Amino acid sequence: MNKNTTESYFTFMMKPLDLGFTQLRNRTVMGSMHTGLEESWNGYAKLAGFYEERARGGVALIVTGGISPTFRGRLSLFASQLSIFFQVYKHRKVVRAVHDNDAKICLQILHAGRYAYHPFAVAPSAIKSPISPFSPKALTDRQIRKLIKAYVNTANLARKAGYDGVEIMGSEGYLINQFVCSNTNKRTDQWGGAFENRIRFSLEIIRSIREAVGQNFIIIYRLSMLDLHKEGSDWAEVVQHARAVEDAGATLINTGIGWHEVRIPTIASVVPEAGFTWVTRKLKQSVSIPLITSNRINSPELVEGCLQRGEADMVSMARPFLADSQFVHKAKKNQSHLINKCIACNQGCLDRIFKLQRATCMVNPRAAYEADYPLTGAGRTKNIVVVGLGVAGLSCAYHAAMRGHKVTAYDAGNLGGQFVLAAEIPGKEVYWDTIRYFEAQLSVLNVEVRRNHKVVFEELRDSYADAIVFATGVTPRLPDIPGIDHFSVIDYETAINNKTAIKNKVAIIGAGGIGFDVAEMLVAPDGSDADSDWYRRWGIDKHYRNRGGLLDEDVNHKPERTVYLLQRKDEKLGKHLARTTGWIRRLTLKRAGVNMLSDLSYEKIDDYGLHIRHKGKPETLAVDNVIICAGQQSDDVLYRQLNDIGQPVHVIGGAKKAAELDAETAIREGMELAYDF
Ligand code: NAP
Repeated sequence: MNKNTTESYFTFMMKPLDLGFTQLRNRTVMGSMHTGLEESWNGYAKLAGFYEERARGGVALIVTGGISPTFRGRLSLFASQLSIFFQVYKHRKVVRAVHDNDAKICLQILHAGRYAYHPFAVAPSAIKSPISPFSPKALTDRQIRKLIKAYVNTANLARKAGYDGVEIMGSEGYLINQFVCSNTNKRTDQWGGAFENRIRFSLEIIRSIREAVGQNFIIIYRLSMLDLHKEGSDWAEVVQHARAVEDAGATLINTGIGWHEVRIPTIASVVPEAGFTWVTRKLKQSVSIPLITSNRINSPELVEGCLQRGEADMVSMARPFLADSQFVHKAKKNQSHLINKCIACNQGCLDRIFKLQRATCMVNPRAAYEADYPLTGAGRTKNIVVVGLGVAGLSCAYHAAMRGHKVTAYDAGNLGGQFVLAAEIPGKEVYWDTIRYFEAQLSVLNVEVRRNHKVVFEELRDSYADAIVFATGVTPRLPDIPGIDHFSVIDYETAINNKTAIKNKVAIIGAGGIGFDVAEMLVAPDGSDADSDWYRRWGIDKHYRNRGGLLDEDVNHKPERTVYLLQRKDEKLGKHLARTTGWIRRLTLKRAGVNMLSDLSYEKIDDYGLHIRHKGKPETLAVDNVIICAGQQSDDVLYRQLNDIGQPVHVIGGAKKAAELDAETAIREGMELAYDF
């Protein structure tokens, strides 16, 4: 990294932002991220620890997870609400922890509207959302006025709790956004009809809060700058709304992209890095208050790029601060390579939240568990041997070394294991950063790493190590199908490592996470225009000629390959994929014309292709290659041998349980075991 880069990191980190009455020490915002601690027993004490670590890590401003101003506005029945004075006390713990570390914190006020996942939902009109089974009741005029007072009440309570401000959630399709757009607002009174009427609700909320809290309180308005649906705002309306928000008394405008119900990815790893900052930049000339940009920004280089190009005044990152609480400090010290980058997988954070579990982070399982896994050294330094450096082994070696143990780690090949294969899938290239991160940390922590070293029984038989950890991973399972040894058959590892050798007609046996990965790899558009083409493929118009920023035409990418994705079970393919990203994967394959077949059995493989019995009828898929993605088997032979002779062995990750193993479990198991030493 050259000297100029060092200087420019320093420049953007140190350039404070003056909001008229308060200075933010740098330009980074930790965006709103619900953790689930908000609703759990003693959760606010843990939440204080979670935010404290991020404030200590140098972030300027933190926005809390969404808190409802009313019961009906809660996202789920037991979700958080701030409307009664006694609730202020628990918030004070959080505020104090952040202020003691010289950062600022705003409470996000979020009313779910028709996204409320309970039968008491309300909305501008009684129109059900496609992503909720509950029909909302239409708010009456009196209820709307009462609701505005409820927002003010919550803002007042936030001020009493010591928060520096509030963020009003006006985007992503939640209540305020439902007022703004005509698809969800069919009212004929002063809150519906013309655009001026539809934005009245948001403006009344801002005006009333400003009047109640005075000038020295931050009001951030999260404005939906790109609705991504056909009845969304057009660009002139976005500008009109933004100017009115400024006039109503907002301090900052944050960028909101898309609605949760819209089937266009906005934050997943397939979205180009910093893929929506162009929207914030487009608004920059039209308002005079500072703008915050967001979505898929996960490195100091991207933050700096946005700021230097004048795309925004501040940059918001939510998941990247889960992945690495010390993001800002490391950036300031020019240690970008030591940052644990968010890989936008959503597995540890949003997918868990949807399952009503506590959020954490796949690449940093300490996130939101700071109190359970403190950054303290182990009492006595032990000698730990780690065999296998996939992500389970890497995590264990890293956490053990971080706690002061002497770690020696081996891998028969290079670092990363199955994660290396994932990183080869288009849209998952960022997974390399996790391997890069662990590798850099092991080097800093003086872990002795021996690559290309296949450990054998004799080496460890007489070892005096305090613990030997087997993270030896998995091998692909080859199912028992006649003709499985036919030359056209390859396992997924070989397929991913030899993409170019795969022919044009392909059948994939097994439609789990890896079957989908391989299918996506086979139909991905190649060439250097893949990134710019991404917007076109998802129907996004960067020129913003239509409402919602959508393109006129439906663009389907039809690859040359014929691909069959197969499973025996009689259920929709991809049913068990993750909630927040599974739909993207299914849609990608559907648009690319992948034939997804279920309810079948495999008869044989021969020169004619793959013979199956589909819904009871025989069929021959005339394919040139059959790729096996039928799960894995644990590679645990050495572990069992050493266990038998009484060595202090442990097994984690795929070597422990191949079935349904995922990287999140593997990395977490690595950390948990390291904390046991
Ligand atoms: P998997 O999810 O268990 O899927 C295995 C597939 O193979 C299933 O579709 C199964 O369907 C089929 N199968 C199993 N045994 C078979 C047999 N004997 N003969 C023929 N077909 C058989 O395993 P995976 O796809 O290898 O993934 C491994 C782990 O990595 C999973 O936990 C997965 O979630 C995770 N992963 C996640 C992602 C992600 O993006 N989040 C990506 C890749 C992997 P039928 O039995 O119905 O045929």
